Amino acid sequence: MSTLRPQPRIYPIRLYGDPVLRRKANTVTDVTAPLQVPGFEETSLRQVANTMLETMFEARGVGIAAPQIGLSVRLFVGVEYEDDEEENEGQEKPLKSRVLRDFVMVNPVLTVTNRKKDSSYTEGCLSIPNIYEEGVRRARAVRVDYQDLDGNLKSIEADDYLARVFQHEVDHLNGILFLDHLPTSVSNQYRKELSAMQRQARADLKELER
Ligand SMILES: [Zn+2]
Repeated sequence: MSTLRPQPRIYPIRLYGDPVLRRKANTVTDVTAPLQVPGFEETSLRQVANTMLETMFEARGVGIAAPQIGLSVRLFVGVEYEDDEEENEGQEKPLKSRVLRDFVMVNPVLTVTNRKKDSSYTEGCLSIPNIYEEGVRRARAVRVDYQDLDGNLKSIEADDYLARVFQHEVDHLNGILFLDHLPTSVSNQYRKELSAMQRQARADLKELER
């Protein structure tokens, strides 16, 4: 039998090949109900969200969805960074000092508000490390209706890069990964890397069950 560990500072990130990434995540029906991230003791939704933010910062990401930490619920966090205008190399401002705002979205519902597609950004994913690709077509602008950590209904409009982040994260809640939006020839190009991730994902799952 496995023993549950106390809450970590950051969560292990589930890798490509982990079945949880392909599951449609469940609605959060009660924001006050405790949650259990697999492998760890139960805790509050707020604590999970905060640890997800820490996990995202540590991995230098712009968003992370609950399935990426093995929790199949409709929750994601994201961040908007200020552009790094520092010109002197090696003098990069710490990531956290560049945060303009962060987002915690429970039960997000995405509505496309500008159907024009954009494919000019390079996209990546914390669950598919070191693979970055252009050409993922995303709607230019979206509205996201969601609940905050207290269960209040909120709404936010986003365009360009932030709209892309929100679309990527909501995809995660539906079991969709960014590579799914690209021709299979792209995934085939990375067959070796992706197979290695699948092996690692299986090893990680075994480790979690110990
Ligand atoms: Zn992702």
